[in-house]
Amino acid sequence: MQALDCHLPAFRKTFVKNFCSVCCPADALLNKSYIRNKMDHNQMEIQPWPQEGLERVESCPICGEVDRELLYEGLTDRVFFCAPGRWSLYRCMACGSAFLDPRPTPATIAMAYNIYFTHDDGVEGAKGLFGSLKRRLRNGYINGLYNKNIQPASKIGHLITSLLPPKRRQIDESVRHLPTTRPPGTLVDIGCGNGQFLRMAMQLGWQTWGVDIDPKAVATARKTGAKVIHGGFPDTGLPSQHFDLVTLSHVIEHVHDPIAALQEVFRILKPGGQIWISTPNMESGSHARFGPTWLALDSPRHLVIFTRQSLKTALISAGFSDVDYKPCPMHATEIFKNSLRISRGEDPFGSEESKLPLFLYFEAKLADFQALLNPSLCENIIATAKKSNLSQVV
Ligand SMILES: [Zn+2]
Ligand SMILES: [Zn+2]
Repeated sequence: MQALDCHLPAFRKTFVKNFCSVCCPADALLNKSYIRNKMDHNQMEIQPWPQEGLERVESCPICGEVDRELLYEGLTDRVFFCAPGRWSLYRCMACGSAFLDPRPTPATIAMAYNIYFTHDDGVEGAKGLFGSLKRRLRNGYINGLYNKNIQPASKIGHLITSLLPPKRRQIDESVRHLPTTRPPGTLVDIGCGNGQFLRMAMQLGWQTWGVDIDPKAVATARKTGAKVIHGGFPDTGLPSQHFDLVTLSHVIEHVHDPIAALQEVFRILKPGGQIWISTPNMESGSHARFGPTWLALDSPRHLVIFTRQSLKTALISAGFSDVDYKPCPMHATEIFKNSLRISRGEDPFGSEESKLPLFLYFEAKLADFQALLNPSLCENIIATAKKSNLSQVV
């Protein structure tokens, strides 16, 4: 951790802590420094993933269709620079999901997470006067939304934020669209990382649980006061029919069997309970623009990448109903920036200052605007779905 702290740029930390860690075996974490891995990447690129550590994926992991098209081949780890191997990504001709074939086996996937980082101190937000003002406005908005009294807060925060739809969407996403129309209940965040979301959910009155496979993340998240369990996914070990809400932020694309994972969520939800899920979107403007250097390909950690329709298919296959998509914040500019750096062979989260060329900046803004008109083009898919009141224990 010390070595990583020395070398990991601040923005990278912010980004990575939002990533999934449930499929990241703890003892593989942080045993190499970031710089060391980056320096070794060229050598690692030409090293294959061990043959015995690969498995074939002959049909779509979401719908079972065998008809597919090759999208990209020769993909390498250009985000964390720690995984060997070259990867081929296919698109299912039936549901539109993309998936790696072959892919790392569950027994060897830890090699792709050598420097995965999920357990910083959980202190968020900009510092200084401007940071303080932003925090007050944000808390004011949340207080108005949920009728709470989180401090420090500015009473005009609710009014100002309500007039700024992009900001409102961003905050709504950060509180994971917690329901405003029902009293708080019990929730679990699978892949909770440092517990930042758990802290907010507790302030809003929820009984909070977390699950993470990284013991350091678990230790950090426990400081929030939430009940945090060291466990994996889909094998969470959580009690059946216990939760009103289960959240998964950028987790589902990392698991080998997304349907089994969603069935596990279904099992632990009470009848009438809800899942909240977010994941990258194959149909996003940034993917269309950058193709094989799109940030969210993240090979070989992203095993399945969804479309809005294929995520719905997966949720329904697992037993859910009432699938509802949430408005997505406008993320295209930052993802364009990261993807551009990948296309130049650079670290997508390098500390060097980088700005988008003007034409790309406008393309990113256009992508966000198009996603407003056609939400199937959003950078991320955010969806909720329900477990019917009539559901029995699975
Ligand atoms: Zn499919
Ligand atoms: Zn991910």
